[in-house]
Amino acid sequence: MALIRLPRETEAGGCRRCAVGCDRVVYPAGCVDSGCPRLYAYSEHGTTWVGCLAKVFAVEIDLARLEDAELTRHGFGGLRVVGEPLAQCSVAVDRTFEHRAVGPCRNPGFLHSAPPAAARAPAPPGQAA
Ligand code: SF4
Ligand code: SF4
Repeated sequence: MALIRLPRETEAGGCRRCAVGCDRVVYPAGCVDSGCPRLYAYSEHGTTWVGCLAKVFAVEIDLARLEDAELTRHGFGGLRVVGEPLAQCSVAVDRTFEHRAVGPCRNPGFLHSAPPAAARAPAPPGQAA
């Protein structure tokens, strides 16, 4: 995957209030599929790069690689959220160390801010995640 810079750490992207460690991810394939007006694109040296004007994710992605990955069983996957997602964003919460849970979640607002990543079925070849 060709990315040109790394996202910064923000509260929007993760919760570390307990040992589980949850991350919120956004699926760029969903940006393309929804025709989101916040998705920008430009071409440079024969490569088309796409990114999010709203900075829900902070990297720019090689569109051809995104499309190629979406043809595989697991698709391109998700990017860690760095800005608060909008209604049209395709997001999920990934509980990194779910087996470490001791007691109830201390930040249910974050945990339930998106569907669990584990519930996302792998995209069939040729279809978006
Ligand atoms: S606002 Fe959401 S759907 Fe639109 S480009 Fe950004 S991350 Fe994608
Ligand atoms: S389980 Fe709850 S408190 Fe723990 S990291 Fe996830 S959102 Fe935060």
